[in-house]
Amino acid sequence: MRKSPEEVLNNIFGFDSFLGLQNEVIDHVIAGNDALVLMPTGGGKSLCYQIPALCRDGVGLVISPLIALMRDQVESLTQLGVRASVLNSTLTHGEIKATEQELLEGSLDLVYVSPEKLLTEEFLNHLSKCKLSLIAIDEAHCVSQWGHDFRPVYLKLNILKKLFPDIPRLALTATADGPTRRDIIERLEIKERQLFVSSFDRPNIKYTIVSKDDSKSKLIKFIEDHHSGDSGIVYCMSRSKVDTIAQWLIGEGFNALPYHAGMDKNDRAINQDKFSKEEGVIVVATIAFGMGIDKPDVRFVAHLDLPKSIESYYQETGRAGRDGLKSNAWLAYGLEDLSKIIHFIVSSNASEDQKRIERQKLDALLGLCETMRCRRQVLLEYFGESLKNPCGNCDTCLEPVKSFDATVATQKALSCVYKTGERFGAAYVIDVLLGSNSARIVQFNHNKISTYGIGKEYSKNQWRSIFRQLVAKNLLVVDMEGHGGYRLGENSSGVLRGEEKVLLREEQFSKTAGRSRDKPKQAKVTLDNEEDEALLQDLRAHRRELASEQKVPPFIIFHDTALLEMAKKRPVSIVEFGKLPGVGKTKLERYAAGFLKVISSRG
Ligand code: ADP
Ligand code: ZN
Repeated sequence: MRKSPEEVLNNIFGFDSFLGLQNEVIDHVIAGNDALVLMPTGGGKSLCYQIPALCRDGVGLVISPLIALMRDQVESLTQLGVRASVLNSTLTHGEIKATEQELLEGSLDLVYVSPEKLLTEEFLNHLSKCKLSLIAIDEAHCVSQWGHDFRPVYLKLNILKKLFPDIPRLALTATADGPTRRDIIERLEIKERQLFVSSFDRPNIKYTIVSKDDSKSKLIKFIEDHHSGDSGIVYCMSRSKVDTIAQWLIGEGFNALPYHAGMDKNDRAINQDKFSKEEGVIVVATIAFGMGIDKPDVRFVAHLDLPKSIESYYQETGRAGRDGLKSNAWLAYGLEDLSKIIHFIVSSNASEDQKRIERQKLDALLGLCETMRCRRQVLLEYFGESLKNPCGNCDTCLEPVKSFDATVATQKALSCVYKTGERFGAAYVIDVLLGSNSARIVQFNHNKISTYGIGKEYSKNQWRSIFRQLVAKNLLVVDMEGHGGYRLGENSSGVLRGEEKVLLREEQFSKTAGRSRDKPKQAKVTLDNEEDEALLQDLRAHRRELASEQKVPPFIIFHDTALLEMAKKRPVSIVEFGKLPGVGKTKLERYAAGFLKVISSRG
């Protein structure tokens, strides 16, 4: 008799209930239908095809572009007692032949294949002789040129519909934007009514955005206060900055490693592997460190530079907290980011239309950075979703921003931009407002104009914050054609004439953002009770041993969610152990005794 999805969920995966739309998608696919599944990272996409593959006859074919990801998935499934294998270019001829034979015999539940391997004539031919339960196309946004990871080879995947018309196909992605979504439906020929879209909210991620002044001390304080001993990613815009920041973090006593496309391929792979297999590694990276990170316990993602768009920001921060446990997204941004990004946009070879789109995306991102509202509400609205109430788990919710009447300040800033000829950047204009004696100011005679020195009531940092907000409100426009100087925005005249008021967010600039140097760097306490925490550390140590014996990342043995429950519930019998999340039959047989021993030794 066929197994029911619930049985598979409980017995094999060790979970009590389905998340979100999983149940609906699974029933729909088991009934033989196609589907496009849009869920955020950590939303539980894998089960949407793994369970139907185990419930239907035949082997589930999973197409995935990332070799490291395939390996981890297959390893995780094997740990669960599922018969899974992988086919890609890294295998030997013999290994490939063996797996192909298993496919033919039907002795596999799931096989992961790279698109390049799949699309060879020989392999397609072989597949036509095998019995398939379903075809899953993972990272389906790779089919779209709008997406950020376009892979031409994905365009050829629609051949699967012709070759296997009766096999249900499901495409999965965490990319939410409209054009990409439409492209996937069209190119893979999946009908619109077979669309499953879950909420893109990631409630376990806390969003914080700070100003960039003193960003390095702020970063250290953030890590020390919230993430001692945790795994995390620090994103920087350039390769050289990655190297500098990684060196600096190491010098400050952190376990940090660099990652960018300019590094030797081997070194890069080693660093990625350490991040995955060891605990508490911080990777400092450009966005080259991206897809292919399925580590569930990344506890924070910090940006030291502004990402390109809200989409990129959401995708990058989405790598935190896949396991659903509390995580942080932290961003420091400043005026210098703006000029750099605008410079990138202007100097790229893109069409004017494309440049305008990029500019709009940047504006939306600025709006997020400078909002006084709940960050999550702004983020979700950008993706066409609405959240009724403020989330209570972002910086603006937790520490509501005060606003101040900045009408006069704005008038001063705008008229100073105007009087200096609408061609200078913020740093210069602020110097004029503050009455600096710099040689340049004297050279241009700007120490003689009426706005010279009229802004001394604010500090440099406060002016920078004001300028950022004026740009976000389009009262100032960064000149796309010239050298990144500011022009007055079209809506600035009302303010200059005193007809409109301007409210801006009041930022707190503390002079002592420094770290508390004497604080010992112990691993972060994740449980309130000290004894539970001590047990958790023992459980982690046992997991580490098992993982290194088997040469797999610790999360493949058990996710943190399982260890936390173990420490809290302290099961004493096999039956109790089996009730923990993520403990299915196979893991129960393999690991219960060892972990129970650790628990009983703590009494
Ligand atoms: P995605 O591929 O969408 O990023 P995953 O499939 O990796 O997400 O799942 C994210 C996390 O949620 C994993 O840690 C997984 O074990 C867990 N998970 C998935 N489905 C369930 C469920 N029904 N109950 C509990 N945990 C689940
Ligand atoms: Zn909020």
